[in-house]
Amino acid sequence: MRVLWFCIPAYGHTNPTIEVVRELTRRGHEVRYYSFEEFRERIEDAGAQFVACDSFLPPIDEKAERRLRRVSTTEMSVQSFRTVANLDPVVSADVASWRPDVVVTDSACFWGKLTAAKHGLPWVCSTTTFAFNEHSSKYMSHSASELADLILGMPRLNREIRRLRPLGYHVKSALDIVSNKPEDNTIVYTSRTFQPCAETFDEEHYRFVGPSVRDVVPKEKTGRPLVYASLGTVINDRPGFYCTLIEALRDADVDLLISCGKAFDPAQLGALPDNVRVEHYVDQMEVLSRASLFVTHCGMNSASEGMWMGVPELLFPLTGEQRAVARRVAEVGAGMALKEAAARDAAMLREAILSALADERLREGAARMRDDLRACAGPAGAADFIERVARRHVEV
Ligand code: UDP
Repeated sequence: MRVLWFCIPAYGHTNPTIEVVRELTRRGHEVRYYSFEEFRERIEDAGAQFVACDSFLPPIDEKAERRLRRVSTTEMSVQSFRTVANLDPVVSADVASWRPDVVVTDSACFWGKLTAAKHGLPWVCSTTTFAFNEHSSKYMSHSASELADLILGMPRLNREIRRLRPLGYHVKSALDIVSNKPEDNTIVYTSRTFQPCAETFDEEHYRFVGPSVRDVVPKEKTGRPLVYASLGTVINDRPGFYCTLIEALRDADVDLLISCGKAFDPAQLGALPDNVRVEHYVDQMEVLSRASLFVTHCGMNSASEGMWMGVPELLFPLTGEQRAVARRVAEVGAGMALKEAAARDAAMLREAILSALADERLREGAARMRDDLRACAGPAGAADFIERVARRHVEV
């Protein structure tokens, strides 16, 4: 079987796919993965052919860059539509000559979804967030500025959509592309327990395979508890928050490890107390294997990895999607919300962290979710599902 795979340039969307790709290539299938240089090594290591899309991303001016930094959904959608157009000649020629049996595309990857539609190929949606339909999307509470961005951006988006028509792409709206429809064959990298409104997604089309993580054996926790904090790999340029964290735990009987991302220079934080370390990037699973508390922005992957390792979470979401994840982590009892004010006040933050560390019910909730996620079908289940979608298409 030939699998044509598409993903956006984001760790959170790429990482969970890697073990599924490895499983498919182990079974003897060919996988051709359209991604970005940053991810080449891990994709090739999983046995796939790598195709670089870097040079097809549209050029970005200063204004667009500012909007992207603010995580403007409109700007991201505009860039995505332009990428569809830029990639069209290459992908269309590839589909014609390589003749894939099935497309697997990230749920937010416009060029993957639109390629499948244009060429009438069977496809599987790879969803690294929750599956979002009209019910579960109510979990995403948008801020006023996020809503304004969406509404004011409509005319720009419609212009981009019109430009795609002559190339054979017929798009209703950006929202229509990213939402999960009942009939879309979809892999979701979590469990039914964790998915909000799970009963609204049928068993036939939705396969909840659990997080696709590189497992690490949990270490016995000796000595001072480790508090690990990360705001993920996308919106992590928050020196104010890191300073408050450091201030909060300065003399506490805990160790603090902050992963601050690549955009920020930890030297700006000045001399650090002995119990604090700040790194650009860490082996998060290894760190979680010895952590007692995870202060997280609630990216779907980070929240899942924390639960996979049974580590209670202090929830500090920054976007609508992350707020949905945070709400669900709290609902299943594996974490507690960090109040806005506490993120800015060292004394309140210290109190929140120390009480989360002492909370037995939170530890039990995290352990329950660890067992729940580990009972899912995993990458093998995802590979079975992709094979089934390709087979069904041939039979019909
Ligand atoms: N990650 C990591 N080391 C770090 C920071 C992040 O390995 O220092 C990984 C993390 O394990 C997760 C991914 O990067 O798999 C981040 O994805 P997530 O969905 O949590 O957040 P995003 O970065 O997309 O906001």
